[in-house]
Amino acid sequence: MLLSPQQARAVYEHAATNRYAVLAVNADSPAAVVDCFIAAQACDAPIIIETSLWQLTGQSFGAGDPLLGIDLFLAQLKTLAANERFRDVPVIYHTDHIKGSATIDILTHAMRRKASSLSLDSSAMNAEENVATMIRLGEIAMQEELSLTLEMEAGVDDGVTPLEEAKSLFGEVELRMPGQLALWAPGVGTKHGLGNDLGGFSPTAIRAHQEFASELAGRPIGIALHGSSGLSVNQLQDGVAAGVVKVNWSSESLLIRSAAAAAYFDSNRERLDPKHPDFKISAMDDGLQRSISNVYVPKVKSRIEALGGSGRASDLLQCLGSLS
Ligand SMILES: [Zn+2]
Repeated sequence: MLLSPQQARAVYEHAATNRYAVLAVNADSPAAVVDCFIAAQACDAPIIIETSLWQLTGQSFGAGDPLLGIDLFLAQLKTLAANERFRDVPVIYHTDHIKGSATIDILTHAMRRKASSLSLDSSAMNAEENVATMIRLGEIAMQEELSLTLEMEAGVDDGVTPLEEAKSLFGEVELRMPGQLALWAPGVGTKHGLGNDLGGFSPTAIRAHQEFASELAGRPIGIALHGSSGLSVNQLQDGVAAGVVKVNWSSESLLIRSAAAAAYFDSNRERLDPKHPDFKISAMDDGLQRSISNVYVPKVKSRIEALGGSGRASDLLQCLGSLS
């Protein structure tokens, strides 16, 4: 079931109230998306498929055109989510790390196509630009009578965000445009990528931001965690206990898939000779993708389980039934 913005908001609130987090995967190929659905279905869990600009313009989707990328991602997600096999999987489509001069155009397109929730990359923006962009999205949603569920971020790679910034960024947007924000992504001591220094990861900061953002909004607001790839299971669970409801997962996911692909080609080198009797079956994309899937799906499942997402889908579907 592909969720509407209203339904996505209900999932984020459900996670904030019940203290679990939904895994958000930057799945960057059709096969990676399928694998995420398989893992979520096996865990009876909700899943977020999120797309940064590099995925939207990537060769598997937009091939340079981010709007086409959104359309192709949504076409695959809608089709899979409506299939009998995956009908009971709550699926959120989220825009992640959209940046540059086309940001508003890309996100407007996503809203018109009913993306479940939106965020953007504010790393090159000052505070005023960050707030103004959020407000602009709200204005467009209002003018065009579109539903909007937003994640707002602040310096996610820049150490721990001071609470005053939660007020001047999240609080300012909530004041001027009440009710559109569902997630807050402050810096909590993580960094994007693998192999970065993670000594500063702070569940204390997560708890303080979660409580403060919820107070500013007057409703439960969960924390979106960026740069989770290098965190241990214990650190992730401490983060969830402190108020993380959405865990973005990209670098480690890419490493698992690319390492599995490398292993497949290494072990099938001889069969990829056109004179080999198994050449054709070894050269087909399906052989490679099944081999990756065998490694990847168990890893996605264990990540979902670590975040407390398992067994949540049935309860969620009952809550979502009355929302459109
Ligand atoms: Zn991120």
